[in-house]
Amino acid sequence: MKIGVLALQGAFAEHLKALRRLGVQGREIRQLSDFTDDLDGIVLPGGESTVIGKLMENLGLLQPLRQAIHAGLPVFGTCAGMILLAKEVDGSDISYIAAMDARVRRNAYGRQLGSFGAVAPFAGIGDIPMVFIRAPYIESIWGDAEILATVDGRIVAAKQRHILTTAFHPELTENTSVHEYFLTMIGQPSTAYPDVFPPPADRAGPVLAQR
Ligand code: GLN
Repeated sequence: MKIGVLALQGAFAEHLKALRRLGVQGREIRQLSDFTDDLDGIVLPGGESTVIGKLMENLGLLQPLRQAIHAGLPVFGTCAGMILLAKEVDGSDISYIAAMDARVRRNAYGRQLGSFGAVAPFAGIGDIPMVFIRAPYIESIWGDAEILATVDGRIVAAKQRHILTTAFHPELTENTSVHEYFLTMIGQPSTAYPDVFPPPADRAGPVLAQR
């Protein structure tokens, strides 16, 4: 399985490490030539969405990424990655990849703007640790997007077909279950959650539709 990790800015090394722990050697995507069409999926890390967006544009990566993701390339966006994937960003008319039917609010946690931790249930997995750093949350979703986790009534994880997003940073904890969730979306059988994530052939539709 070949997973690209956008490595322009932000917490990409931690994603590569989490993938390695699951036996997957990720590939750093630093320039257009790294983004080949043999990838099974791509991770858009946390960082600063405006910076990552500009770099993608300057490097000529934005359009190819956008096209591939709109055409169905599985993608996992954390924090800034979630912002890049949303169709709407509160208070901004800029959208980047604009593939998920979601409206996000940036830097959205008021007093807790800096960073905070929580433990909350994630659909199909159970309670997991969540680290938030100047995080966004999802104000609303539509279409066939599904909520996977909320904290204090705010949507912090969602999925729409091949797109997975979290407002928090699973790669900054020792818990690799959300990365494993992403790999099962692509088709890698789950070792930790075989009952929850059956092999794709046994699935009738989105992973959570059967629950
Ligand atoms: N505040 C950042 C942004 O707006 C996201 C923070 C993060 O990725 N940890 O892009």
